[in-house]
Amino acid sequence: MDKNSLSQLKKKLEDRRLKLQDELASFSKKDEQVKGDYDTNFPDFGTTQSVDEEALEVAAYDSALPVEYALELRLANINKALDKIKNGSYGQCEKCSEKIDIKRLEAMPEATLCLKCQQNN
Ligand SMILES: [Zn+2]
Repeated sequence: MDKNSLSQLKKKLEDRRLKLQDELASFSKKDEQVKGDYDTNFPDFGTTQSVDEEALEVAAYDSALPVEYALELRLANINKALDKIKNGSYGQCEKCSEKIDIKRLEAMPEATLCLKCQQNN
């Protein structure tokens, strides 16, 4: 891969990382102990608790968790891709070691598998 494409993809990954971090920060608290880990805030709808309010809090927490998990997973993949750029193994399929098509990387810079392996996965 030429340097130009690589730096463009790196820029894309860094942009995505910032956006993801913002999204995560909007409804969760960054876990300072574990790098890249976020804890979903338990929503507080007030101190006087009725049964209804408590049920509402639990429901809001339950619905935020899978979203947080999906975002965290994407963020981990993006960090992994940025690490690969650093150590020079970026753009290589993790399964067959072939080069991943540049068009695929432009659409999904955090891809770790080539299209063929992805389809057979
Ligand atoms: Zn492959």
